[in-house]
Amino acid sequence: MADFDVIVIGGGPGGYVAAIHAAQLGLKTACVEGRETLGGTCLNIGCIPSKALLNATHHLHEVQENFEKMGLMGANPTVDWERMLRYKDDVVSGNTKGIEFLFKKNKVTWLKGWGSIPAAGQVKVGDELHNAKNIIIATGSAASVLPGITVDEEVIITSTGALSLPKIPKSVVVIGAGVIGLEMGSVYARLGAKVTVVEYLDEITPGMDGEVAKSFQRLLKKQGFTFVLGAAVEVVERTANGAKVAWKLKKNDAPGEIEADVVLVATGRKPYTEGLGLEALGVEMLPRGQIKVDAHWQTNVPGIYAIGDAVPGPMLAHKAEDEGMAVAEVLAGKHGHVNYDVIPGVIYTTPEVASVGKTEEQLKAEGRAYKVGKFPFMGNARAKAIFQADGFVKLIVDQETDRILGCHIIGPSAGDLIHEVCVAMEFGASAQDLALTCHAHPTYSEAVREAALACGLGAIHA
Ligand code: FAD
Repeated sequence: MADFDVIVIGGGPGGYVAAIHAAQLGLKTACVEGRETLGGTCLNIGCIPSKALLNATHHLHEVQENFEKMGLMGANPTVDWERMLRYKDDVVSGNTKGIEFLFKKNKVTWLKGWGSIPAAGQVKVGDELHNAKNIIIATGSAASVLPGITVDEEVIITSTGALSLPKIPKSVVVIGAGVIGLEMGSVYARLGAKVTVVEYLDEITPGMDGEVAKSFQRLLKKQGFTFVLGAAVEVVERTANGAKVAWKLKKNDAPGEIEADVVLVATGRKPYTEGLGLEALGVEMLPRGQIKVDAHWQTNVPGIYAIGDAVPGPMLAHKAEDEGMAVAEVLAGKHGHVNYDVIPGVIYTTPEVASVGKTEEQLKAEGRAYKVGKFPFMGNARAKAIFQADGFVKLIVDQETDRILGCHIIGPSAGDLIHEVCVAMEFGASAQDLALTCHAHPTYSEAVREAALACGLGAIHA
């Protein structure tokens, strides 16, 4: 008889959610985690610490930029970096301990150590062998660094180093204009660093709605960011005072270089599956290092499943969590499902940027007829009151049926506003459904309703 019905390898958002939900469904469950704390990349060195630093530095920025405008006078606060890092660490440990509590509450056994799979139905942790009817791999991802770059996590760093620098740098070069690079760049820009972003593509945040990306870049420039786009980085090396980044512009081969205290390499992440023994097991992998799974997250080896950053799809904590829930349902004999068409993406800068569903660019490529309803936060009283009237809500609907196909927001609380649209999309709603829903005044979410009105006869306040 098996020791466990399910053993999950990896205690990140995919793994811990899968373990808790499997236990809720009555399965005897264990979760293997090699880190000292549960919560994976997200809670330890990802979503949560980055948001803590974004929160602290957002408040600093508010004091510096907006307090006097509201009649709040007085000296600017000074930054105690050590204390800010302690606050960030406290937020992390509060959350990781929370997962430990949830494991106890739900009777999930935490097998501490690094796991491997000697054979289907077996997980080895240290010297101990555990049997399981089913195994879920949720081992996540690691930073992907361009070839030829040596990361030391002191001067040439990944996001992990950027979350714990010994002192605030005066200058930072960020390689890669994706979500992580721009969030951490924002943290240091608000702390007074000169931030230069060097990106291979000609635009920032690839894949994002083009109009939103342009507005976002403009707003970041206003906040002091410098962008070098269309630049192929050729050299990143340490110097006496920091590190140097050299590139060639793709359009004309013009060389450029810059020196900074710190270089943050934010060129994406790659699946992490080392040490599991997948090759010996014959688990099929995809060319980009992800584990290949079927529609029920099962690998080609019966009884071995995989979810989260280790499999294809957006590398996001909530996508991993949804897969964790769904695979637990499948293992309990139910019908787990993830709607990959409605997975929101958020950038937690100020203003926030959020999107769900199709972009205009995608719909054009598909040849699908669509309408756009746009509403600027300039027409939203609450946004104006907090000096964040720069952005807009853009709702994209089917030309014929008015069904919502996508939404892209840049503005205050965009990361929360987007969920109204996610729910609407899950229910197959039209823009008119949103427009007919009463929205409290004065709220930022009125801008979403106005964008829905703009898909019909027109917004009221624009
Ligand atoms: P992970 O969270 O990576 O967890 C995998 C766990 O498995 C790790 O704890 C690892 O130690 C463990 N493990 C690996 N191998 C073994 C083994 N053999 N035995 C035992 N344990 C093992 N996503 C968002 O949605 N929102 C955000 O705001 C956001 N911000 C981010 C900011 C940063 C700086 C970074 C780096 C990432 C961010 N992400 C964000 C991405 C998010 O962290 C990941 O998508 C998410 O953590 C993936 O979850 P996962 O469970 O698949 O893997």
